[in-house]
Amino acid sequence: MRSSQPDFRHAASTHVRAPICSDVTRRRMLGCCLGAVTMSKADPPSATKELAEAREFLRKRQAQAAEGAPGFPYRRQESTTEEALAILREQRRFVPTNDPDIVRRGIFRFDRKPEEERIRRTEEFIRRVQPGPFEDPNYFALLAYQAASIEMALPQFQRQPQVKDPFSRIILGTVHGGEVNAFAQAFPRTGYTVVLVQSGLIDFVYQSAKAVVEAINPFRTPDKSALSTANMDMDRIRAELKVNEAPVNRVYRTLESYFFKGYPRAFANETVADEQVPFLGGLIWMAERWITAHEYGHGLALPIDFSKAPYNANQAEEYFADCAATTLTVASGWSLDHLPAEVSLAGANFALACLKTCRRAKSVVTRGKEVRDEGNGSHPPNELRALQNIASFRQFFDVQYDGGRVPEPTFVMRKKAPAQHGFGTEQSERAYFFSNVLFEMWPAVKERLTEQYRNKRQLHPMWG
Ligand SMILES: [Zn+2]
Repeated sequence: MRSSQPDFRHAASTHVRAPICSDVTRRRMLGCCLGAVTMSKADPPSATKELAEAREFLRKRQAQAAEGAPGFPYRRQESTTEEALAILREQRRFVPTNDPDIVRRGIFRFDRKPEEERIRRTEEFIRRVQPGPFEDPNYFALLAYQAASIEMALPQFQRQPQVKDPFSRIILGTVHGGEVNAFAQAFPRTGYTVVLVQSGLIDFVYQSAKAVVEAINPFRTPDKSALSTANMDMDRIRAELKVNEAPVNRVYRTLESYFFKGYPRAFANETVADEQVPFLGGLIWMAERWITAHEYGHGLALPIDFSKAPYNANQAEEYFADCAATTLTVASGWSLDHLPAEVSLAGANFALACLKTCRRAKSVVTRGKEVRDEGNGSHPPNELRALQNIASFRQFFDVQYDGGRVPEPTFVMRKKAPAQHGFGTEQSERAYFFSNVLFEMWPAVKERLTEQYRNKRQLHPMWG
């Protein structure tokens, strides 16, 4: 397997095609002949024709998706920039604490200066993208904050500070669509990359995370020594799942909605119990961040020639994007969110567990049986990708667990992981924990999906 170490150098530009980041369905990306490029008055003077072209591409994709979505609400004005900025301020409002350097948002604490900087950069990012009339400002504000987190992590690795920030030519948007998928469209001529995240992916990850957190049943300790604690014993979780149907039902109903109704969400207007927040928050953030960072990884891959990789060039690029994503997620998770490495890695692997679940479910509803995940031409099997995430972490970070404070993962550039690593089996199991809880639910979900197949239930036309 080719070492997929992140390399942020700008090498000679080579071919890059649009990578598709899960094979749930494949769609041909549009070309980049976009006709006339219009500049809005709100464009900052630095906005170039190239940026306008990237924005135009994003807007066209969003408009096309919205056409097929009756009742899609966002066409109120030409730009949703101001709306996204207002939502961001609402989402990221924080309050002071007794310590002037620490702020609080709900139960989560942040260092004031980096958090202020992250919000400032998110605003800058929103203005750079200048979201169009078919953007969902809510989802966009969430992902823009993730993008800013990723961008802030980069300088920690950059060996050549004189190299221009490679992320300045990446923009992102959400596309209203049912696919559990995300894409990156590269424009080799201009160096721009447009990241497109389907809203279905965000919803699916959220619903799966919610099911997993319901399954571990968090509770407040009577002595209030912890914010919340949960059942982390897999045997007990398994037993619990036999008597409490809610988590399995959530995963099943979400998949049922995906395959038979065209969108992976069956529950709306949900509340989250206080006890669930610490688990749900960290898991969803890190899964979303890793997904976003994976697509950013394709942007970083733009100048790299994978054609000489000793195996499938597309898969080599996927591993590169995964490795960049893992590195950026762990680094930003630690420095900005105070999250230990295993939590960031749990989010990364959970995103892959969600893709695996969709792939398994698809084989059941289309063929009546589960087919082993062998990957495909462009993507390695999700299990191998998760394994490689842990390997990448061990290669690029040192960390020592001594039972005391949560240890800092420190970045180190090296060609391979050392034989002995501080991130041992116990930590690795924690990184797989949420994925494994989701997999525990699979047999019961599969049974119900198989029943739909046997009843010859008609799939939604998006699967035609
Ligand atoms: Zn990819």
